[in-house]
Amino acid sequence: MDKLNRKAVIAGNWKMNKTATEAKVLISELIPAVKDATCDVVICTPYTTLATAVEMTKGTNIKVGAENVHYEKSGAFTGEISADMLLDLGVEYVVIGHSERRQYFGETDQTVNKRTVAALNAGLKVILCVGESLQQREEGVTEELVRMQTKIALRGVTAEQMANVIIAYEPVWAIGTGKTATSEQAQEVCAQIRKVVGELYGEAVAKSTTIQYGGSMNAKNAEELVAKPDVDGGLIGGASLKAADFAVIVAAASNG
Ligand code: PEP
Repeated sequence: MDKLNRKAVIAGNWKMNKTATEAKVLISELIPAVKDATCDVVICTPYTTLATAVEMTKGTNIKVGAENVHYEKSGAFTGEISADMLLDLGVEYVVIGHSERRQYFGETDQTVNKRTVAALNAGLKVILCVGESLQQREEGVTEELVRMQTKIALRGVTAEQMANVIIAYEPVWAIGTGKTATSEQAQEVCAQIRKVVGELYGEAVAKSTTIQYGGSMNAKNAEELVAKPDVDGGLIGGASLKAADFAVIVAAASNG
């Protein structure tokens, strides 16, 4: 029942794929393929593709997001991009704390928090990623770990700002591996995250927060995953690069 009151969001995370030229082809296929969606549809693209994506999706139901953002407003941070730069381009969303950033680029819970607060204060919508590694799951600390990541990431975020936060539960062992969490595992952890949001902000915010699952979600398994009561859509990597597959996932979330 609560699920009906929340907007499901399907967001594609293109990672480091597609030149701006290649993106034009994919976006022109995506626009007709997802036009009837009743869920929200977001494509998060590399920085070099954002201007093209914003331009091409004007007047459509596709929103555009970046894959990271720096927490400072401006200054001597060579190679970085600020929230204001993204907003000025017409970008609406940003992915923060993706496990690939945590794994390869020194992202910590503290920097995830700084980016989250800066992005929200500037007016971006945040897709905040949390999730355990295989070792952490096997050690039985998934709940503690995800609780901690969520709490630290949201430090300083107000209840009002939570309207602009989507949390993506992304078990690291399922990302890009073809190993999907079972729908029961996805439901269990998404429900735990909702509980943490409730402890921090109260029931009403918890009930209205969109919590996605991400990790090898595809055209075949999406329907079962997004049907779970606490799974409000998905963050999609590999399958977001094929318009037909992405459209099937969007359709599943539109019905789910
Ligand atoms: C992701 O990049 O967030 C992701 C979930 O990737 P994939 O769908 O390829 O596992």
